[in-house]
Amino acid sequence: MAKNFTAEQRAKHARDVAACQKRNREAGLCSCGRPPGQGFKKCSTCRERIKRRIEAKKTLGICTRCKASAEPGHTLCGKHRQEISQRTNKLRRTVRAKALEAYGNRCACCGESRREFLTIDHVGGTGAAHRRLLKVISPHSATNISWWLQKNGYPEGFRVLCWNCNCAIGIHGACPHDAELATRS
Ligand SMILES: [Zn+2]
Ligand SMILES: [Zn+2]
Ligand SMILES: [Zn+2]
Ligand SMILES: [Zn+2]
Repeated sequence: MAKNFTAEQRAKHARDVAACQKRNREAGLCSCGRPPGQGFKKCSTCRERIKRRIEAKKTLGICTRCKASAEPGHTLCGKHRQEISQRTNKLRRTVRAKALEAYGNRCACCGESRREFLTIDHVGGTGAAHRRLLKVISPHSATNISWWLQKNGYPEGFRVLCWNCNCAIGIHGACPHDAELATRS
């Protein structure tokens, strides 16, 4: 836009553009008014432009979501990094809660039900099959098991255990609770 516009005129123009983009979006078009690509909200021209802008910002070390400079080694500024990590954490908690819910919400061995103590266990999960499964779930982190279970419709062969029982079974092959129950009955 030319330099000699007043701030007021610029603000009005921005409002007009925003209103026009909104109308286009509501009509199921790309905000520029072109038809969107299959399975996308934006047209291929706009997608290309956004991709180029993001690449340019990455090269310059600018946050890809605003004009602030990105944190060293990242593509986002501190504020946006925090915003996204909070959102991811919330999502991760929800996915985990759903998985625990699907498998009974309490330790299958001792009945512990405080969520902080609980983990999901692959029943009989010590052999090669278990390692293969974990590899499928994630090469990085076993906490992703909740995502995998959700995607696979919470299959059989998993249970909720508390960390205590899980470690006892993992290290000693059985939980002391089992022996205690056996002597009591
Ligand atoms: Zn467009
Ligand atoms: Zn930012
Ligand atoms: Zn337990
Ligand atoms: Zn136990």
